[in-house]
Amino acid sequence: MGAIPREGLCPPVVWSQAEWLVAEVDESDGTISEFSPEITLALNLDWDHPGYYESEAKLDVTFRALFERTQQTVLIPDSNARLESLVGGLGAQVLRFGERGDYIGHLQAAPAQSSTLVLSGLFAPQTITVPCASAFNASNALAALAAATTAGFTLCAEPLADFAGVMRRQDCLYHSAGLIALADYAHHPEELQALIVSLRKDYPGHQLVGLFQPHRYTRTRQYAKDFARELQRLDSGYVWPVYAASEKLLAEGTSASILSQLAPGSSITAWPQDNPDRAWAQLDVCSKQSPTVLVFIGAGDIYKVAREWKARLLESLLNAPEAFSLEAIQPFLTDGTYLKQAEPLSNKTTLRVGGAARWYAEPVCREDLQVLRSYAQSRNLPVFVLGRGSNILVTDEGFDGLVIRLSHCAWRQITRLEPDRMWVGAGVRLKEICGHASLWGLSGFEFMEGIPGAVGGAVRMNAGAMGGWFMDVVESVEWLTPQGELRISSPAELDVIYRSTRGLQGGVALGVVLRAKAQQTPAEVEQRTQTLSQKRKSSQPRESSAGCMFKNPENNFAGKLVDEAGLKGLQRGNAQVSAIHGNFIVNLGQAKAQDVLDLVKEVHTRVQAQTGIALEPEVQLLGKSWKDII
Ligand SMILES: Cc1cc2nc3c(=O)[nH]c(=O)nc-3n(C[C@H](O)[C@H](O)[C@H](O)COP(=O)(O)OP(=O)(O)OC[C@H]3O[C@@H](n4cnc5c(N)ncnc54)[C@H](O)[C@@H]3O)c2cc1C
Repeated sequence: MGAIPREGLCPPVVWSQAEWLVAEVDESDGTISEFSPEITLALNLDWDHPGYYESEAKLDVTFRALFERTQQTVLIPDSNARLESLVGGLGAQVLRFGERGDYIGHLQAAPAQSSTLVLSGLFAPQTITVPCASAFNASNALAALAAATTAGFTLCAEPLADFAGVMRRQDCLYHSAGLIALADYAHHPEELQALIVSLRKDYPGHQLVGLFQPHRYTRTRQYAKDFARELQRLDSGYVWPVYAASEKLLAEGTSASILSQLAPGSSITAWPQDNPDRAWAQLDVCSKQSPTVLVFIGAGDIYKVAREWKARLLESLLNAPEAFSLEAIQPFLTDGTYLKQAEPLSNKTTLRVGGAARWYAEPVCREDLQVLRSYAQSRNLPVFVLGRGSNILVTDEGFDGLVIRLSHCAWRQITRLEPDRMWVGAGVRLKEICGHASLWGLSGFEFMEGIPGAVGGAVRMNAGAMGGWFMDVVESVEWLTPQGELRISSPAELDVIYRSTRGLQGGVALGVVLRAKAQQTPAEVEQRTQTLSQKRKSSQPRESSAGCMFKNPENNFAGKLVDEAGLKGLQRGNAQVSAIHGNFIVNLGQAKAQDVLDLVKEVHTRVQAQTGIALEPEVQLLGKSWKDII
């Protein structure tokens, strides 16, 4: 696919053995002629590559040929006269989407960050949310849903709920009450017009300021006048030098060609290369005077300029003296990112005790994760990364810092890498790995069945069971260092020991590549997984717990020592040493974190008194240090 998903972790292309292959067909270099799709979805048709197609007519012939090669269905918008003129008398059926098409979508509301579509026509009637900005993105979403329905898929409720959007398609970089900054890929006059018209509609009462980088000299030469006409729809703006895209300089196709076509006194000017700071300062002043939409437009590298702009704005927030505030950081975050104050944590841990996190976030993408971490660090606020909370004890007082959890679907991708490896996001549950491994006939992961954690926690804890160790099946870990650098490291580089990957301390695991021990039949893998699962079920308590409370001492077992000290069944408040497994402390229903802490202390003291062995907690304590307890 051409566009890059916002998640960053979700690859734009996944090659699998699925029945359908979804691909963006590229007309820019003529490779469009190689495709004979089952379903063709055409969103629009512009003479976008005059360097390749000498005339509009040649482009039309190319598209008509694509439609003729289409086997089943051609999908087009309900109001595109040019595409309409190319679909008469086709062998494939032609279906339309839009306000009046075969697939009908009525846009009910398009607030800054999401919109509501009411589906009807060939769709089963339902109302859905499109979780990204603008009528333009809503229309693209409608087209995608129409294609999926045509292909025979049944839409679930809220089919786009987990979609974090794609970059550079009215991609919202910043959104406060007075300033909205977007990045968009528009690079043809028609696209520029569509963009500006839709922004006027979506942001009434805002002044529109654009930074436009023309793309290719050939296109700029062809459309200089049209670009100038469309740019004048903005309230003000700058024209960047042309992004060459490997073309040789054409004197009549530069940004000056556009500027020379502007009306005298136009508020669109050349970007002041020699003094950009002055221009940035002007933009700053202008956006403070009245509500502003600032849009970075173009298909070249203007996106980098947008990112630098955002980084500068963030830098000034990081350097400001004020305390951590939701209002201050929210404008930098993607809409889907959840950020809340005083979020209870007991329901996010398997032990089900403890207080709240002062701040809590579920970021939808890596960028938001980094923004949140650096903001917290700039405020000296401790950050804790929570997985599925199956190895965590939260104190009753809670955690006076920021808890970050990678639970959005962006972190839950599993992709098979042929033949015997898989890419797995940090938020994927170990159980899901077992499920996929069985399906794909990949062995070596069976020991994970029944460990109730996710990948991030399993990496950090080097989770293990029945002789298998998580880091033994890891080929590489993608992670962020405490300083925010992205790294890909092998287990050998991460200082892996029993129940800890020490090199990851203070970092955040984003995902891993796992390698199977062997390839077998799905039935064989499934059978071994079930055997281990049964073994686990018969030897572990069913009540809420955090798994093994203590690490096994060298050449010994913590559970055995607790048992031999006669502590099974020992109770403090509503917490109890399990009668089934001495190393499990269970919550009988209403336990407080303090009950568990009292019990840990008691067990620790009595085992040490009896055996001389000081048990070391395996469970991570959040809110206090174990040193203060035992
Ligand atoms: C019933 C039960 C049975 C269990 N059986 C086993 C077992 O057989 N073997 C075993 O090893 N464990 C077992 N556990 C413990 C636990 O499931 C594992 O340690 C698991 O790997 C923890 O994963 P989690 O996602 O729940 O991490 P959490 O408990 O949420 O976090 C654990 C640690 O990992 C860190 N962490 C989480 N995500 C990330 C990330 N993305 N990047 C960096 N650090 C991160 C946290 O900061 C914390 O330090 C069991 C627990 C229970 C409740």
